[in-house]
Amino acid sequence: MKNQSDFTVELSRTAFFFDFDGTLAEIAPDPSGVEVDPRIVEALGALWRNSGGALAIVSGRTVDDLDRFLSPLKLPASGVHGLEMRDAEGEYRRADYDGGEMERLTCAVASFAEQHSGLLSEVKPGSVALHYRQRPDLHQACADLAGRLAAELPGVSLMRGKMVFELRLGGRTKADAVAQFMAMRPFAGRQPVFVGDDVTDEDAFREVEGSGGYGIKIGAGRTAARFRAADQGAFATWLCHIAAISACEKASLLSGGQIERAEPDGGIGRSGRSAATSGAP
Ligand SMILES: [Mg+2]
Repeated sequence: MKNQSDFTVELSRTAFFFDFDGTLAEIAPDPSGVEVDPRIVEALGALWRNSGGALAIVSGRTVDDLDRFLSPLKLPASGVHGLEMRDAEGEYRRADYDGGEMERLTCAVASFAEQHSGLLSEVKPGSVALHYRQRPDLHQACADLAGRLAAELPGVSLMRGKMVFELRLGGRTKADAVAQFMAMRPFAGRQPVFVGDDVTDEDAFREVEGSGGYGIKIGAGRTAARFRAADQGAFATWLCHIAAISACEKASLLSGGQIERAEPDGGIGRSGRSAATSGAP
């Protein structure tokens, strides 16, 4: 049983990790059409400074993409579910993967997307995503293709997200990204907090929950995170509040009412909303 001090946020002792889509920005029909509220960018910048730089974005997007959406900030970041990393010193590295397998994957997904209007194939370093947000009727056909490619290509793992199947090389997850940051300054020795909205964030929730920290899940759905924000707006309000406190102050995690304990059944307790799916297709 954790004591009450686990539920306070002290900026000098906390390492903050945030997913991007559905967490810092509302999900848009087209991934390139996402917009980030300027107040979120401002809050992230303030929290990054006030926490002594112990803040990183951990996303399925590329680091370049994150920089573009969060401009002018260039925060520590992990892209493509842990394949890319830019650390707190600004040093960039990328995990190795098989170029031949990447080419086969890219061609197979692009050719499928070309045959079905409304599907979008997104190529990233070491990963190809098949988005079907505009064609939910094609969920099963996309699932079949993704499953077949993951079975045929030995180095490829399949990840299911919100209206997207992502095929990745290198076998890394967001949990690996968090663990990598936590081994480095200024993250090391702090209490890790991970905030995310999708099934792809569950590895990271387990990682932080297992290493003395806690997860905050945005929206409904079963989760390994101990806490929950009802929606992206509630989280944004909490983020702005936390960003406004000074480095030596403590803030209660639950006092503003935006964050609550996650109910075991995956529902949202306070608002009484039903337990919907996690958003995973
Ligand atoms: Mg997300």
